[in-house]
Amino acid sequence: MTEARSDYAEAGGENCVYLTFDDGPNPHCTPAILDVLAQHRAPATFCVIGAYAAGQPQLIQRIVAEGHEIANHTMTHPELSKCMPDEVDYEILTTNKVIGMACPQYSVRHVRAPYGIWTKEALAASAK
Ligand SMILES: [Zn+2]
Repeated sequence: MTEARSDYAEAGGENCVYLTFDDGPNPHCTPAILDVLAQHRAPATFCVIGAYAAGQPQLIQRIVAEGHEIANHTMTHPELSKCMPDEVDYEILTTNKVIGMACPQYSVRHVRAPYGIWTKEALAASAK
């Protein structure tokens, strides 16, 4: 049997898993996911699409209130490498505004590029 290495192995000597849920919030799935996470006292990160988050501010508030993290997964989930620089800015910065309208005290710390495709423009917009 091969030994698996983990960057988190030194964190208390316990194995851990980082849970992320992408492409929500979804009024049908997200509440059920939150219920299961609460049962297991498991924190997670929800990588939300701004266009969906705009219509679900209560779900964004619930995610934060229950101790989870919200990450920016762009406004409309485009492949950022095919966007113009101003579109990349719009995708990322507008999503932060939507999250901020639902949860004014919350500070978004992470961006997840759709399809895992990063560009210089996407990194620069994320840094803003
Ligand atoms: Zn996605």
